[in-house]
Amino acid sequence: MQIVLIGPPGAGKGTQSVQLAEYLHVPHLSTGEMLRDVCRRKTGVGTRACVAMQRGQLVPDALVKEILFERLKEDDCRAGCILDGFPRTVPQAASFDEWLEERKRPLSMVIELRVSREELLDRLSSRGREDDDREVVLARLDQFDELTHPLLDYYNSRGVLQVVDGLGTAEEVFARICSLVDEKK
Ligand code: ADP
Repeated sequence: MQIVLIGPPGAGKGTQSVQLAEYLHVPHLSTGEMLRDVCRRKTGVGTRACVAMQRGQLVPDALVKEILFERLKEDDCRAGCILDGFPRTVPQAASFDEWLEERKRPLSMVIELRVSREELLDRLSSRGREDDDREVVLARLDQFDELTHPLLDYYNSRGVLQVVDGLGTAEEVFARICSLVDEKK
């Protein structure tokens, strides 16, 4: 199964994606992690992306696509994967659709993890990652509203969107996700 998780920063998308990947025995692909890794290695290609990330902005589509599509070609992704953080813009989603179509790999489901802005700010202020400063967090939330939120309509109109309430313990949220996934299996 190929499943995309979409949620604003702080929604728990990372935690839930890891668990779901284990549950379905498929790889967990986080573009945020991949990009942080590029930044740690300080290669030339990453420099612009790292500055953007530190400011809470999205990195250019071309770089994300290059990194992700390379990874998706690997054998362990044949049976499916959980995508965490990609696609994040409508153009990324359109490229991904094309990529999947060329390979006859259908998108099984897109899960939106929905959490109120108030709750997100509460959660993010206590998390402590280096891009979690209040100002940067606000920038990331704005980027979500502006660039990622339109994706929900994009996928809804294609009939693949499922909404999950992200409020509650990680276990409660995971149980909600599993029941949707189990129905689809
Ligand atoms: P969160 O969703 O909590 O912000 P992520 O680890 O998913 O955390 O992403 C961290 C940062 O990585 C983003 O703020 C953005 O700068 C960059 N990033 C991750 N995925 C993408 C993507 N698909 N397109 C552009 N930038 C991305």
